[in-house]
Amino acid sequence: MPSIFTRIINKEIPCEKILETESEIAFLDILPCFHGHTLVVPKHEVMKLEQLSTEEVTALMLTLQTTARAVSRAMGGLDYNIILNNGPHAGQEVPHVHFHIIPRAVNSSYYSFKNRKPYPEGEMSKVGQLIRNCLKD
Ligand code: AMP
Repeated sequence: MPSIFTRIINKEIPCEKILETESEIAFLDILPCFHGHTLVVPKHEVMKLEQLSTEEVTALMLTLQTTARAVSRAMGGLDYNIILNNGPHAGQEVPHVHFHIIPRAVNSSYYSFKNRKPYPEGEMSKVGQLIRNCLKD
């Protein structure tokens, strides 16, 4: 059965998309640790990073960098975590490799993966647009 991220890639499930390339997609996490929490996902569905080819990892890293820069800019230059839960025993819930980009404000590091709230009505699309505006140099 395809992962939920493959279903997003195939447009069977909606997402607040930030960017899409031939080999990756980036979209807002539906249950953010912080405003702007974004996922970067390769279109090739594998569970773990090491299952991707060198070319796929290279492309993924470039898209990760582009997306992270825009997320940070959109949030006023905030620092951020880049997190990969690589396998179920490392906390991976969706078995399709993906990086989390999580903006962090001063004293915000206590926002754990366990303390999350959905966006208020209408807020997710505003955050998405803010980040997309920051994709260009
Ligand atoms: P992980 O625990 O590293 O596998 O993270 C999976 C992430 O996917 C979680 O942060 C979820 O909130 C997020 N997620 C699950 N379903 C969706 C969805 N339909 N749209 C956006 N993010 C999602």
